[in-house]
Amino acid sequence: MSLSKSAARDALKQYFGYSEFRLAQERVVERTLEGRCSLVIMPTGGGKSICYQLPGVLLDGLTIVVSPLIALMQDQVSALLANGIEAAALNSACEFEQEQSVMRLAETGGLKLLYVSPERAVSAGFLSWAGRLNVSQIAIDEAHCVSMWGNDFRPEYTQLRRLLALFPGVPTAALTATADGATRHDILQQLALPDCEVFLSSFERKNIKVEVLPAQNRIKVMLKFLGARSKESGIVYCLSRKSTEQTAQKLRQAGYAAAHYHAALPADERRRVQESFQKDETQVVCATIAFGMGIDKPNIRWVIHYNLPKNIESYYQEIGRAGRDGDAAEALLFAGYSDMRTLKQFIDNGDGSEQFKGVQDSKLQRMWDYTQSTSCRTNFILGYFGEHREARCGHCDNCLHPPVTFDGSVLAQKALSACYRLKQEVGLNLMVDVLRGSTSQEVLRRGFDQLSTYGVGRDVDWKSWRHYITQLIDRGFLAIDFTRHNAIVLTELSRAVLRGETFVELCEPQEADFKSKALQEDEIALPDNVLLQALKALRKQIAEREESKAYSVFSDASLKDMALKKPGSIEAFMGVSGVGTFKADKYSDEFLAAIASHVPQEQRQMTSDVEIKKVTRAKSKPPANDFLLGKLSTTHLATYELYEQGSSASDIAAERGLSRQTIEGHLFRLHLNQRQIDVSELIDSEQISYIQDLWRALDQPLRIKVVHAESDGSVSYEQIRYAVCLLSVSGSVI
Ligand code: ADP
Ligand code: ZN
Repeated sequence: MSLSKSAARDALKQYFGYSEFRLAQERVVERTLEGRCSLVIMPTGGGKSICYQLPGVLLDGLTIVVSPLIALMQDQVSALLANGIEAAALNSACEFEQEQSVMRLAETGGLKLLYVSPERAVSAGFLSWAGRLNVSQIAIDEAHCVSMWGNDFRPEYTQLRRLLALFPGVPTAALTATADGATRHDILQQLALPDCEVFLSSFERKNIKVEVLPAQNRIKVMLKFLGARSKESGIVYCLSRKSTEQTAQKLRQAGYAAAHYHAALPADERRRVQESFQKDETQVVCATIAFGMGIDKPNIRWVIHYNLPKNIESYYQEIGRAGRDGDAAEALLFAGYSDMRTLKQFIDNGDGSEQFKGVQDSKLQRMWDYTQSTSCRTNFILGYFGEHREARCGHCDNCLHPPVTFDGSVLAQKALSACYRLKQEVGLNLMVDVLRGSTSQEVLRRGFDQLSTYGVGRDVDWKSWRHYITQLIDRGFLAIDFTRHNAIVLTELSRAVLRGETFVELCEPQEADFKSKALQEDEIALPDNVLLQALKALRKQIAEREESKAYSVFSDASLKDMALKKPGSIEAFMGVSGVGTFKADKYSDEFLAAIASHVPQEQRQMTSDVEIKKVTRAKSKPPANDFLLGKLSTTHLATYELYEQGSSASDIAAERGLSRQTIEGHLFRLHLNQRQIDVSELIDSEQISYIQDLWRALDQPLRIKVVHAESDGSVSYEQIRYAVCLLSVSGSVI
């Protein structure tokens, strides 16, 4: 099957709501449609999924996706279902019955994409079953897991050739965000894909603003930063378990919904923190690096490194968790030399050969060099990974506010000679006091006012002195002796400065100005921002109703685009990024109504330049059925626990911070799943008959929305689902 270029683009809009391909997406899609193999290397958030999901929709048959993380798999499946694309997963979290029904669907052509864990994909049972299916594509996500050189090596990946061998001639796409040459080579060799083209995209994360600040007043600076981002999710990475707890507590005291996370917490507590972060209930997680694998929250808007990371690889991976939805995000790093020392000790006291320690040491040193760099930080990182370029990135602090440098030789001499006169015995603050000629008790008591350097730096203010001395320490002209109360001491480089033999370049201090770098959301003019908040509230309400995640309804980027475009018609609504035909059909009424209530008609957009053409798919299934009787999950059980303690629906809603409607939905579902719930307060028998009659009269639609519209809103979504589900429970229809 071969589709023209424009057909692939039309399908991108129709199924995923995007009008343009990104990076290598289009070429990979075309290649797969031609029946050929690709290795796709793209940074996190680059859009790897579309590369195999779009062909998955268009090709006649099933796409098998091998993916190693259950949480990621589940999220991908939900996102596909939200776009009306039939997808399911087989992994160790599935129950037997669920598995059987997924397998039946795959056999009968009712699935377009099937996600499987690598263990499953290479098991004898799966291979003999899958061999009978009409498979049109194989996608291998996180393909670097095949390489023993990487951190995420999975032995099962090396056996995937057995799966590939079952389907000769079926196009395969292997995808990863890990760039290095050795891993790439390994993937190609181990998977042995015939005639495989490699698509290597730049590793630049254009949507992440990176910034480095000295590690001073970190909590204060963080609160200032958060002040302008009071609704945005973020992670604060800390070095120790204790500091995750302390930092989270300080943020809570300041009124933020913050939690801590580290490997020593009990498993269910860790799960709870992850879930509430995922649902936007917890805004900030202060965590050790244990918090990472498996979080697939696309709308993390910022990552702060409270401490220095151990190397550039870790740093880039951690900041990469921000902005996976492609929307603007920020990374802030606090660079403090005392962390350098701690990390160095970890290396020295750790296991491993001297050679290994030497490598770790030099990686740590590069990390420090990064924090001290005054040129483009993105280029520093890209260079580290072997990607070299001249042009500046324009989204790092050094590009946005180039540091102002000057000849600081005289200042340096003053500081160094003060250090010498003070016998290398005092800390930074007292040293500044002496330079500035302070008359503080301590200065006078210790006779420092008698020194020749007393007051030689009066003309420079206190804060700037601290800044300059910190720079001198960073450059190695001074050092801190941590064993003697952090006294500032001279180094082997000091002598040349004191003799005037070395030129010392210093940077002017700069106040971190978080306001000007605030997120796009703050840059959106006020009336639009009010609309945006209303759209977000509506999204939350729908997600609660559907028991899905907010971002599977629409991403932040889609809502922003919607707030800016203000569609006033279905056609204009379809022009919004991320709105495909399925979502337009499902959500346009509610979103258009919300926009209409905020924006006068003449300001609404009625038409769109995005042309929507329908692409017919090889096979299609009936739309999802809203009336399927759902299973109970942890959220229902949490409601049940409170209910059993005698709380009313409203109490439970208040206690759990959910809407009353959602709780009613839970109670109904609990009742349908044979739990002792008195639903007589939530619905009466007259309402039940009314809904059931209406549903039959409408020819048994699959969507609640249809019944709701016809009832003129006299009954709620939850009531409708319950009354219709009752019919199937009592053994009749559906
Ligand atoms: P990756 O797997 O490479 O980390 P994803 O496939 O999860 O990235 O995509 C990241 C985000 O970018 C998702 O929110 C996705 O919907 C969005 N995206 C992907 N392709 C496009 C596109 N062509 N236009 C706009 N957004 C896109
Ligand atoms: Zn830059």
